[in-house]
Amino acid sequence: MTADNKDKFKTLADWIRESKRVVVFTGAGISTESGIPDFRSPGGIWDRFDPSELSYPNFVSNQGSRKKYWEFYRENWKESAGAEPNRAHLAIAALERNGRITAVITQNIDGLHQTAGNDPEIVFELHGTMWEVRCLSCNSLYPWKEIYNLLEKGEYVHNCGHCGGLLKPATVSFGQSLPVKTLENAQRFSTNCDLFLCIGSSLVVYPAAQLPELAKNSGAKLVIINRESTPLDNISDLVIQGEAGDVMSGVVEILGLALIN
Ligand code: NAD
Repeated sequence: MTADNKDKFKTLADWIRESKRVVVFTGAGISTESGIPDFRSPGGIWDRFDPSELSYPNFVSNQGSRKKYWEFYRENWKESAGAEPNRAHLAIAALERNGRITAVITQNIDGLHQTAGNDPEIVFELHGTMWEVRCLSCNSLYPWKEIYNLLEKGEYVHNCGHCGGLLKPATVSFGQSLPVKTLENAQRFSTNCDLFLCIGSSLVVYPAAQLPELAKNSGAKLVIINRESTPLDNISDLVIQGEAGDVMSGVVEILGLALIN
């Protein structure tokens, strides 16, 4: 750890201690140390799939796109199914256990915050969850494993057993609306916090990336933790460049909190 980063860990620990309403906002980068690749880093999934092909309008309008989409999902599930929370997830769970945070807003669909021990009631999954498959017509839910097993056998995904509607992973695709209530809650927590911590997000996917700006414009301190620079570094109060696991475990150690696996 550089001396500069050590000072920054201490600053962040002090701010967490002094703040009354801390919100944590996470992106795919928090889960790369759990073995789930992000989308935009070199070798990420967008090097193998074309995001424009996987849009919601394409999914609902043609069977060829749906087939491509399910292939993409099968790969996603295979890569993510056995993933365990890493030190960054555990550090955020430790912050909640010790009454230090009010909400976790995540762009991730992997459920690792809840597995790490964060209360599902305070985790807002802006882009849904990969662990369920939803009927686009009647909202019936199916376990992902059922559909995954079909795909592994090379079979085509059937339509909804209740209403015949199209099934799709319960995630938000390009061109699909975010869940209204979840977004409203995320906006409310972002507006009312005094410290907003962004971890492992490229901050280019909207409307999720509006939330740090909303928090900053509402008077919160904005902190960005990422291994690379982001478009919001210039408006943030503190930028810590590094691996999410190193940074977050370092900060909770300064706060004297234990990581429980
Ligand atoms: P992204 O792929 O656009 O960006 C990831 C960011 O994390 C990058 O800026 C990268 O520099 C940084 N990063 C990667 N590993 C890091 C580490 N160990 N420590 C610190 N920083 C690290 O991801 P995004 O901004 O979340 O947007 C992509 C969308 O794709 C998300 O909205 C999400 O829905 C979806 N996605 C989710 C998962 C998941 O659930 N784990 C994985 C891939 C993509």
